[in-house]
Amino acid sequence: MIIVLKPQITDQQQEQILKRIRESGLTPNLMRGVERVVIAVIGDERVLGKETVLSLPGVEEVMSILAPYKLVSREFKKDNTVIDIHGVRIGEKKVVVMAGPCSVETLDRLLSIANDVKEGGALILRGGAYKPRTSPYSFQGLGEEGLEYLSEARRKTGLIVITEIMDPRDMPLMMKHADIIQIGARNMQNFRLLAEVGAHPKPVMLKRGLSATIKEFLLSAEYILSAGNQNVILCERGIRTFETATRNTLDLSAVCVIKQLSHLPVVVDPSHAVGKTDFVAPMAQAAVAAGADGIMIEVHSDPALAYCDGEQALLPEDFKTLMISLKKIAGAIGREM
Ligand code: PEP
Ligand code: MN
Repeated sequence: MIIVLKPQITDQQQEQILKRIRESGLTPNLMRGVERVVIAVIGDERVLGKETVLSLPGVEEVMSILAPYKLVSREFKKDNTVIDIHGVRIGEKKVVVMAGPCSVETLDRLLSIANDVKEGGALILRGGAYKPRTSPYSFQGLGEEGLEYLSEARRKTGLIVITEIMDPRDMPLMMKHADIIQIGARNMQNFRLLAEVGAHPKPVMLKRGLSATIKEFLLSAEYILSAGNQNVILCERGIRTFETATRNTLDLSAVCVIKQLSHLPVVVDPSHAVGKTDFVAPMAQAAVAAGADGIMIEVHSDPALAYCDGEQALLPEDFKTLMISLKKIAGAIGREM
């Protein structure tokens, strides 16, 4: 059961509601969102009737949500969530593009790629400073130095920055350097990390795990929302299937399935989904046509020399050409870019 509290509720009334729930043998979980304060009640709801709860002073609404994820569900919130990051709004008519290198390499290269993606129409610069690599011998990212380069790129270009967190201990650095914190596919079920990013209001983009079902994906998002952070963007980035012709299999149907089940914005990352440059543009086009709220694309000025994922990076000129076609597709389905 989700109990929505009145905005003008007093502390005393709130305490009374929590007390009443506990006395019934249920566990209340108080969540302070941007828009409203709610109490999620865990346990057998039959011991505390909906009418009884509704009669308590300070209660605005009582909702029984059937989905296993509550705050993430469309049942809980009918309207699309729009996340505003310094004026860049994700989840509205405009399809937002995030682009940049897989990993932050040198400052010069980052600045040159950032300028290119900005010219192409991207609003958000991506780049990993902490890289989740399969092999411990592969480049692991520049760490804090990489984050400083990202901040420098933001200062020089005005682009906002998305970068991946892998360790909860890096949260203070993320608060300083990132505008959106990315949780990568490999950490989708790192529950301590989810709780940590949930404890701050900073926008989070959660990527779907390599073998996660949509239900597991949404339950992971629920960890972040239930910890208090409602600013969550979901990212479909391909899932592991028996097919080996592409790096992963892009589950484009996830876009419409998630939009039906949840109010959160959905971004598609065709680069990690296909893993091959040639297939990135058609899948990015298909993602816009499918209704994605944003696209994340890896771009590199010299893919052969990239420290990571060069085989799926677009050259800046190819990115710019792609953007022209994406704008047309967005227009054709009543959206903008
Ligand atoms: C990334 O975006 O840099 C990344 C590592 O992606 P994923 O977690 O989807 O593999
Ligand atoms: Mn990558």
